[in-house]
Amino acid sequence: MSDITEIGHFVGGRTVAGTSGNTSPVYNPATGQQTGAVALASVEELDAAVAVANAAFQEWRSSSVAKRTEAMFNLRNLVKQNASELAAKITAEHGKVHSDAMGEVARGLENIEFACNIGEMLKGSHSNQVSTGVDVTTIRRPLGVVAGITPFNFPAMVPLWMIPNALGCGNAFILKPSEKDPTSAMFLAELIHEAGFPDGVFNLVNGDKTAVDAILRHPDIKAVSFVGSTPIAQYIHRTASEHGKRVQALGGAKNHMLVLPDADIGLAADAAVSAAFGSAGERCMAISVVVAVGDAADPLVDAIAERTRALTIGDGMDPASEMGPLVTREARDRVESYIAAGADAGATVVLDGRDTGFDGDGYFLGCTLLDDVTPDMTVYQDEVFGPLLGVVRVPTFDDAIKLLEDNPYGNGTAIFTRDGGAARQFTEEAPVGMVGVNVPIPVPVAYHSFGGWKDSIFSDTAMYGPEGVRFYTKPQALTTRWPDPASSSVDLGFPTN
Ligand code: NAD
Repeated sequence: MSDITEIGHFVGGRTVAGTSGNTSPVYNPATGQQTGAVALASVEELDAAVAVANAAFQEWRSSSVAKRTEAMFNLRNLVKQNASELAAKITAEHGKVHSDAMGEVARGLENIEFACNIGEMLKGSHSNQVSTGVDVTTIRRPLGVVAGITPFNFPAMVPLWMIPNALGCGNAFILKPSEKDPTSAMFLAELIHEAGFPDGVFNLVNGDKTAVDAILRHPDIKAVSFVGSTPIAQYIHRTASEHGKRVQALGGAKNHMLVLPDADIGLAADAAVSAAFGSAGERCMAISVVVAVGDAADPLVDAIAERTRALTIGDGMDPASEMGPLVTREARDRVESYIAAGADAGATVVLDGRDTGFDGDGYFLGCTLLDDVTPDMTVYQDEVFGPLLGVVRVPTFDDAIKLLEDNPYGNGTAIFTRDGGAARQFTEEAPVGMVGVNVPIPVPVAYHSFGGWKDSIFSDTAMYGPEGVRFYTKPQALTTRWPDPASSSVDLGFPTN
């Protein structure tokens, strides 16, 4: 009897088996064992899901805001009640520690809570008596069937950046999660169904490039939200745009954390360690470069090294673990190759993650700290996406800003300082979408919006929050003229003055 779970799709309010005959293996990264086989949809299966979504949209678009809000409140409660189980499903396929997965669920929940208030966001606007007897009202209408294509690193939270606003605005949704860890999204699909969203309003189609390409080209899909790596984000943006769709495509990152000489070094080191090595560095807002300005460098590197040595690495379901494995063997091998490349290029290896011996077949790697990293090194230039922190030493604040300006990415950045003037100058000059002051991972709360700049985003709107509502609706301007009742030829049957 096989221990491998078949993972199908969720269409029309129920789980359905894949019919393409193609599957992709899903692993538990802590053991290296295959635990699942996820169906990879054919074009025909994707088409069938879109047809179901489109039929559901025809009713959902005119459902009352009260009905949508009630389902959203139910979903909020269900996700909260099932948070630990959802987090365990994330850990089982992604590898991040359970407490971190609980944090992921909490950040996803924020987006459901934001959408519970969708009536406020959809109020539109009204201008009375713009001319005699003429009023103008702008109504925000849903788009139709919209799709989300999501990455492995936040398998529940990133779908929740999209789904609540899309459904709350009256759209129907097709989710194509990462094939590396699809089970938590399948669980979300069940919760969405249980919450009372009508069958077909939310659908999940598992798949790879075949399914993605079918989404990008399908005439009944009106908008595509994507989160993933920069090359794929560019491809999604270009292809979906060519097919007349709205697109928001968020890409990769290389986030710098500046530490000025006056900073609280202990605070900065704590922040650097949690932001660089949390979730094994597989976060788009992870800090991967610390920029040590002037005299900050020596004490900072010592403090980061000391804290990093104390981290406990192990199975994410073990409460003692502070960092889990990487998602796949390939991901681990890739990070190892960057450690070697950095050392060969002249970086000082303070801590080498390869030295930490692990038993078993899990995809574990220790934390790496490289000092004296320079911008010409591939370990500086590329998004490594693993537990590897590089330290670049610069003499001045202006040199640090220049690094940010020259970097192609602009997702997140942070400064650690006690100097309010320097912090303000930093927020004015940093060419980055999300900026933290003494906060290492400045992910905005759900009632703001999330989005980087430069090669970290290909879209006109950021994701979730007010920008998400704007993305998932189109304005309809209604101009009405009603004659003065006194001049009406129709007898209204009541006094007109
Ligand atoms: P990825 O780009 O490999 O995959 C993302 C999605 O695209 C998946 O659903 C995948 O199936 C699909 N995909 C992959 N290759 C494709 C192809 N050739 N054609 C069509 N579809 C394809 O990203 P990933 O490895 O799953 O996630 C990690 C990346 O995501 C990192 O670069 C990270 O920075 C980025 N990320 C960015 C943000 C952000 O908000 N900017 C958030 C999370 C993750």
